Amino acid sequence: MADAEVKNDSELRAQCRQLLEQLSVAPGPPGAEDAVRAIVREALQSHGEISYDRLGSILCEKQGSSDGPRVVLDGHMDEVGFMVQSVSSEGRIAFAPLGGWWGHVLLAQRVEILIDGGGRVHGIIGSKPPHFLATAERQNVLGLEHMYIDVGATTAEEVAELGIQLGDPIAPYTEFRELDCPGYLSGKAFDDRVGVGLMVETLRALGDHPNTVIGVGAVQEEVGCRGAITASALARPDVAIVLEGTPADDTPGLTERQAILGQGPQIRFLDPTAISNRRLVRFVQEVAGEIGIGVQTAVRRTGGTDASSIHTYGAGVPTVVIGVPARYIHTHVSIIHFEDYLNARTLLLELVSRMDTETVSRFTRFE
Ligand SMILES: [Zn+2]
Repeated sequence: MADAEVKNDSELRAQCRQLLEQLSVAPGPPGAEDAVRAIVREALQSHGEISYDRLGSILCEKQGSSDGPRVVLDGHMDEVGFMVQSVSSEGRIAFAPLGGWWGHVLLAQRVEILIDGGGRVHGIIGSKPPHFLATAERQNVLGLEHMYIDVGATTAEEVAELGIQLGDPIAPYTEFRELDCPGYLSGKAFDDRVGVGLMVETLRALGDHPNTVIGVGAVQEEVGCRGAITASALARPDVAIVLEGTPADDTPGLTERQAILGQGPQIRFLDPTAISNRRLVRFVQEVAGEIGIGVQTAVRRTGGTDASSIHTYGAGVPTVVIGVPARYIHTHVSIIHFEDYLNARTLLLELVSRMDTETVSRFTRFE
């Protein structure tokens, strides 16, 4: 195994959990990933060469015993959020969504408005109270355009005095905590701070590796996988593993289960935006089997990841998506199982340590 910093199991768990908590509570709506980027830079600056694309994605290049193949590990730093759209004369803040939101999950939730200079203003999402809703209105999902953020102000001037301006990013606000059932972690933004965390943990722990690894913290995935396009121009991947907090389907009403908490990392074969390289998927499944890590395989009719941008970079990049199942993503609070996260980390270390020139060239040998 390729664990450069040998730690005992409990130290390792504590380190992984601490980073995940730090990443989870950091605000990072699309286009405003600064707090997450700072955590990644701090964690990785002594482990490789740091650079940035011009949208704000961060890259950390760590050379092993060979210049190639270039192995990209991608996690997106942004989370679903909002942007201040307008302020009413009564001090209510209308907001535009950044990423996919469902009105049902938003009312009475806490948010932070990220103002210029680094300050944060706390607010609550409100709407007309249910007491005043007509029957027909109550039966529908309320549109985001009918909601507002209440920061306690009663005039537009008070809002301005707090430092809030049009265009300010807005992030969900949620504490991170372990549930009373051990191993179940709850918090916001597991889509995709688990991916960012796994990328960081892999680069930190990687010992000898027969390739060059480029960890990418990509921006703006939730609005169209934009950072993965611009970061790929710098990373020039020969092979890519996209790391995700993938939607769990072990909840009522779903019968085809391909993402159950506690049953291991998920390997995604298909979604509407990418088909994983079949030989690479088989490689991941084989390696997982050899080291005794259970994995789940998913064929998805919906969704999309940074693989959409990465696998079509240049002449094409063999790409696979490895996810940690997360319940209730694209809300203020989701749940993962910590063992899935730790097992994904172990699997990644093994995969990267085996990705030499011959292995990777096999993925794209078509003659
Ligand atoms: Zn995601």
